[in-house]
Amino acid sequence: MAGNWKMYKTAGETTAFFEKILPLVALSTHCDIVIAAPFVNLPAAVAAAAGSRVEVGAQNLYWAKEGAYTGEVSGPMLSAIGCRWVIIGHSERRQYFGETEETVLKRTKAALEHGLRPIVCVGERLKERESGNTDQVLQTQFEGGIAGLSEAEFAKVTIAYEPVWAIGTGKTATPDMAADAHRFLRGLVSAKYGAEAASRTRILYGGSVKPDNVKGLMAQPEIDGALVGGASLDAASFATIVNF
Ligand code: PEP
Repeated sequence: MAGNWKMYKTAGETTAFFEKILPLVALSTHCDIVIAAPFVNLPAAVAAAAGSRVEVGAQNLYWAKEGAYTGEVSGPMLSAIGCRWVIIGHSERRQYFGETEETVLKRTKAALEHGLRPIVCVGERLKERESGNTDQVLQTQFEGGIAGLSEAEFAKVTIAYEPVWAIGTGKTATPDMAADAHRFLRGLVSAKYGAEAASRTRILYGGSVKPDNVKGLMAQPEIDGALVGGASLDAASFATIVNF
């Protein structure tokens, strides 16, 4: 269960969030719990989460180890501060910051090289769903952004299926719609990396997951977890999702 805070919260608010949520998820051993905070809040998040079951993630990274890349943050920098996960290829990065399949793959390889666990996002836009191209879009994103990984690299990847039309809109894919997309993605994984890898792969659903719809989504055996935006900003609400 992963929370994507996007560009929300100060360092002080980060610490306050962890103080509230840690007791609420202390017994939640059924899943990994990740909060992906803005870069500047990662040290506060790591300090506040120390000794708990909650791990900390970033929302992006640059693929070079270091260099003259003003404004970027690298894998070694994230690992060094105790960050363990990183979201890659979120639709907002694709839409506003020029993310492509090629850059998703480069970032994913860099994350793995530096001991970070990538959560790689894929998902179709409304136009693409309405024109019946969802599978085609997912296949293109999988082939360009993920299938270039070796078997060993892929084994450490979590996929997040996030239909763009459901992100931040309050429109959730129905559990059946989400499960269909997950099944299709798992089929792509199976064709590329084999049936065992496909059954091991964790595919998260993301798109307006809330305390009141998480149960229905998680009842689908195809859905292994959730990537949660808005509802992860409130400790009680995210804890309810974690403890669905
Ligand atoms: C997200 O940011 O990945 C997301 C799914 O957002 P929301 O839950 O707010 O739709």
